[in-house]
Amino acid sequence: MKTARLEDGVLQVLDVDRPEPGTDQALVRIRAAGVCHSDLHIARGDWGGLSSSSPLGHEAIGVVEALGPGADRFVQVGDRVILGLGGTGGGYWCGACEYCLSGSPRHCSQSTGVMGVFAEEFAVYAPGLVVIPDEIGDEEAPLACGGLTAYGAVKKLLAHGVRPGQWIAVLGAAGGLGHYAVQLAVAFGYRVLAVDIGEERLEFARSLGAERAVDASDAAAAAQELGGMAASLVFSARIAGYQLGLDLLRARGLFVAVGIPPSSDGDFQVNPFVLLMKEPTIIFSAVGTVQDMRELIDLAARGVVRTHVARTGPLSELPTIFDELEKASYLGRAVLTDLTT
Ligand SMILES: [Zn+2]
Ligand SMILES: [Zn+2]
Repeated sequence: MKTARLEDGVLQVLDVDRPEPGTDQALVRIRAAGVCHSDLHIARGDWGGLSSSSPLGHEAIGVVEALGPGADRFVQVGDRVILGLGGTGGGYWCGACEYCLSGSPRHCSQSTGVMGVFAEEFAVYAPGLVVIPDEIGDEEAPLACGGLTAYGAVKKLLAHGVRPGQWIAVLGAAGGLGHYAVQLAVAFGYRVLAVDIGEERLEFARSLGAERAVDASDAAAAAQELGGMAASLVFSARIAGYQLGLDLLRARGLFVAVGIPPSSDGDFQVNPFVLLMKEPTIIFSAVGTVQDMRELIDLAARGVVRTHVARTGPLSELPTIFDELEKASYLGRAVLTDLTT
């Protein structure tokens, strides 16, 4: 079968053996796979410390084709499922440690990620799969990471006492994660100040329900006019976006970091006097749990949130799609809809 992977820093489409599902694993025939910016960062070596040889792809929708021992407790052959759980943490978790039992299996010392769904077939830990209804098309595959990550971040607003009706800023609002976050935050009842760059992206954010949309250069003035933001969701993968997110907060606001800037961008620096004066709560939000995924699928099935798909193509076009993503050639997500060629 075909698969795309990184070999010594070079993106290659290879013929490999079909995987066999192990204990508690399901073999899934991939029908569509989203091309996430994380895949691009890994392929380009943007994040220090990662291997230069790696399988790629971590958001997909497919059909269960075979089950390893024990997996029938979780899914059945023929089930249409969404898989990936955002790449980190969805490949295995022990289920019994302090982190697993407190709802944070990503931090389980035994957890592994999901990587390698740019393939015709993929063997995956079945407890991480969520069965999806017919209302959700194959092209919604980016919900598996982009959607889940945005949902996890928006849910943290409630968990940290940010109330519906309050103003929040979404930085990188028109991006692959941000466009979900705007839809979800609006659905949760928040007033959204969308921050991005360029009129086309701002218009897109408005079309998703943002009450205000401003260029990054105007964001500080806009936030001040609105009394400061109760929270900033920072999807921007630039340190400048982090800095701006902190600037927009009102006193005791919530700072939720999500985007991961390239290592070359340097460190996020916070002046202690800003901490003193603003007393912000600063947290990171990465992906989400299986339960988050189920909730998001329910919202998507009811049309509350949808993926803006800008581009589809077969596996063989992945190198071109990476180039396009790097140049930000379009708004919305790219989805591989044929993994066999
Ligand atoms: Zn565990
Ligand atoms: Zn991703």
